[in-house]
Amino acid sequence: MYIYCLECGWKISTDNGYTEQEASETAIEHFVETGHAVESLRLPPPVALESSG
Ligand SMILES: [Zn+2]
Repeated sequence: MYIYCLECGWKISTDNGYTEQEASETAIEHFVETGHAVESLRLPPPVALESSG
């Protein structure tokens, strides 16, 4: 999961060792503290969709 702020450069990703719950809670804290809107994205699955044809 990847969560980023629409209004400043803030972001957090489960790639950085956070669990999805920690990332979500941290994003909510950023929203509560700053009032900034945050957007969350689900990272693509580890197996890339490869269509060669
Ligand atoms: Zn922000």
